[in-house]
Amino acid sequence: MTSDVDASGPGPEARLPLRPGLEGLHPYGAPQLDVPVLLNVNENPHSPSEEVVSDIAESVAKAATGLNRYPDREFAELRAELSEYLRIESGVRVPAEQIWAANGSNEVMLHLFQAYGGPGRTAISFDPTYSMYPEYARDTHTTWVTGRRSADFTLDPAHAADLIRRHHPALIVLTSPNNPTGTALPLETVVAVLDAARGSGPAGPDGGHTDSVVVVDEAYGEFRRAGVASALTLLHEHPHLTVSRTMSKAFGMAGLRLGYLAAAPALVEHLRVVRLPYHLSAVTQAAALAALRHREEFIAQVASLRQERDDLVEWLRARGHAVADSDANFVLFGMFEDRHAVWNGLLERGVLIRETGPAGWLRVSVGTPQEMAAFTAALQEVDPR
Ligand SMILES: *Cc1c(COP(=O)(O)O)cnc(C)c1O
Repeated sequence: MTSDVDASGPGPEARLPLRPGLEGLHPYGAPQLDVPVLLNVNENPHSPSEEVVSDIAESVAKAATGLNRYPDREFAELRAELSEYLRIESGVRVPAEQIWAANGSNEVMLHLFQAYGGPGRTAISFDPTYSMYPEYARDTHTTWVTGRRSADFTLDPAHAADLIRRHHPALIVLTSPNNPTGTALPLETVVAVLDAARGSGPAGPDGGHTDSVVVVDEAYGEFRRAGVASALTLLHEHPHLTVSRTMSKAFGMAGLRLGYLAAAPALVEHLRVVRLPYHLSAVTQAAALAALRHREEFIAQVASLRQERDDLVEWLRARGHAVADSDANFVLFGMFEDRHAVWNGLLERGVLIRETGPAGWLRVSVGTPQEMAAFTAALQEVDPR
């Protein structure tokens, strides 16, 4: 027996060759504080039901008997079930081969940047939007360019077209419903961007311009209000479009890490090239399949969260707050001269929301009715009107 070696602490000094540009950077992430009411990262507030939990446990146990083998690299069964889910949820039939999945839509997005971005390439988006995107660009050496959303947080198609023509982006990221504003884009705006993207990408091997890939990030797609369409309905006419979804929000499975997208077959083929082999573990595949078997339960839960969201918007407006229209499971509200003081006052009362978005605004996720009651009570104390 050898004695234990203690490897703790910095030990002797080394000059590690950190890539230029990464010096002094911090890992991404909202503060994870231990507070009774967590309304800061847009999770589904309901734990999975007992039936879902036991189905996942059984499926994972079964998968565990085969863990000596590598998993199905093409996750065929999971793609088929995600395809079926999209058909039920949005009425669009996307064949299983046109579905791609990875560990969260974060990784799906990274695959897109790995396939289409890179040195000399540009990706564009429109602020205010999701703050993770610039990190995918940084990590793939892709130039990141941002335009702006209008005062009501929608997108002016002329501004978008102008930016696209000037930068010849390989990727255009549209977030709809947008985070942190909750804004869904009308399909006409998405179509205008798709049209502008044609022949506006970087030069291809023959010297002519490619088509920019348009990514519509629908992480919150299930929460859209009645009459708001999904960009999935545009897929059959636009082979340079891809729509990404996640099980993290509506499905209440943020801890599972499963995101996916729908796209034309050629685009999915490109993503297969850059993924790490066996990126989706057998455990993840088994758990996701089990959760998907309970889709009716999640769809019903989304309906009640949507209703709570609409009630919250109404309550905030009745108090005289500015509130951005929301098609998501969170609400951006304001305006506060000192938003940090309001955020902090809520935190002192055990309610954690997110200090994000343009100056003067705060974002609150939709929680359970009890959590919403705690939030509204705390806000009335912190900001009496
Ligand atoms: C939460 C969120 C995601 C989800 O990421 P996962 O990796 O699937 O958990 C993606 N896009 C936006 C805009 C989000 O807010």
